[in-house]
Amino acid sequence: MSSSNIKIIPIQQSKIDSVDFNNLTFGTVFSDYMFECDYKDGAWQNPTVKPYENISVAPSARVFHYGQAVFEGMKAYKDDNDAIFLFRPEENYERINKSSERLAIPAFPKDYFFNGLTELLKLDKDWIKKGVGNSMYIRPFVIATQPAISASPADEYKFMIILSPAQAYYAGEVRVLFAEEYSRAADGGVGFAKAAGNYAAQFYPTKLANEKGFQQIIWTDANSHEYLEEAGTMNIFFRVGDTLITTPNNDRILDGITRKSVIQLAKDNDINLEIRRISVAEIKEAAKNGSLKEIFGSGTATVINPIAGFSHGGEEFELPKLDTSYASFFKEKLMNIQYNISEDPYGWRFKI
Ligand SMILES: *Cc1c(COP(=O)(O)O)cnc(C)c1O
Repeated sequence: MSSSNIKIIPIQQSKIDSVDFNNLTFGTVFSDYMFECDYKDGAWQNPTVKPYENISVAPSARVFHYGQAVFEGMKAYKDDNDAIFLFRPEENYERINKSSERLAIPAFPKDYFFNGLTELLKLDKDWIKKGVGNSMYIRPFVIATQPAISASPADEYKFMIILSPAQAYYAGEVRVLFAEEYSRAADGGVGFAKAAGNYAAQFYPTKLANEKGFQQIIWTDANSHEYLEEAGTMNIFFRVGDTLITTPNNDRILDGITRKSVIQLAKDNDINLEIRRISVAEIKEAAKNGSLKEIFGSGTATVINPIAGFSHGGEEFELPKLDTSYASFFKEKLMNIQYNISEDPYGWRFKI
């Protein structure tokens, strides 16, 4: 793929020597370069890779007033021979445009997305460290920059990609609350989109959950709060007996790439899989009769995140500690593909 349409402005000096790669706090350190492209006069133009720096946006830009913004989350991985890979990046590309469409943001061209990302990762390749668990977190995003505060879609936008080196981290035991009052998304809303506002709206209920000693909330359907949907930055799986269960996608649920990869792996490894609605009552009953073996989340940031316990209606439940879990099985399978350790029968790896 030619990157000739991308302008490159070189850095004066790399910041890499000032970074302690063994003590990274997720999402706080950024690499030398960023990608920037502006939408003006009806077209995306001037795709540029340039030094990571502050940007100048008018205070009247619509993003500040109406939250017209979407983002993606993806990762680059380095193998033992210094080759760099992405995991199913076409899916991220398609999803950001799906999110954009819902927020009335113009679609971003594919060659700019892939050429910009490739150029950026090549320039910042030394920031991607080898070793399973190390990665480069990639954050593409779009913001409405038109300086005008009328409540309508903007006609100017900025598409950017920033890179943040990440280490494997152990989040500690995660206990969750099943939502009984607040909701993340509603029918016909924007829950399926990675729209900035979806995340801000979760902060307050999650803060309340944190104060009660729970790290996260599992959101339930907004109408009845009887059906389990997703974790807000992760999709969610339940293992009852040896059956793996996850909720179907709908317009309230983010169509996770890790989720669809787990589903594929379950099918190909003879794990009994059910994609159907899951009621809170059913999971509480399974916890009481001992058939609930696992709950885990899936998402790019942590791949698979096992859940140690949950609470609902004032009752608390602990999950059993298993020697061989589905969670660790899927995590290993996925990471072996991501880090070029195993075969990739699905063509999920994308070499930079
Ligand atoms: C990003 C995200 C996920 C996970 O998606 P992946 O593609 O697997 O990273 C799940 N739920 C929500 C709400 C998300 O924003």
